[in-house]
Amino acid sequence: MSFREKILELLMNSEEPLSVDDIARELGMDPREAREIYRHLEHIAKTARAKYGKTLLMEPPVCRKCGYVFRNLKKPRKPSKCPKCGSEWIEPPRFIIK
Ligand SMILES: [Zn+2]
Repeated sequence: MSFREKILELLMNSEEPLSVDDIARELGMDPREAREIYRHLEHIAKTARAKYGKTLLMEPPVCRKCGYVFRNLKKPRKPSKCPKCGSEWIEPPRFIIK
């Protein structure tokens, strides 16, 4: 199974949405490679739809300081800074396939 297929399967079988750190841990990856997963997720979203008729859902990132929700992200990623309060303490997005 390719790396992307493993992520796809993990997110289809998961009960709860997972962050990229959770995914890296589940797949035994180096945590430093977790950011790479965002890039894979764009392709995984397409595969999930084309192959299984399922959708990759993203719980948006949230600022832990002021509660700002990043609703308009075009791509899966963790923003570095809150536009409202400037905090860098951001809860990362979480993903699941349904
Ligand atoms: Zn904030």
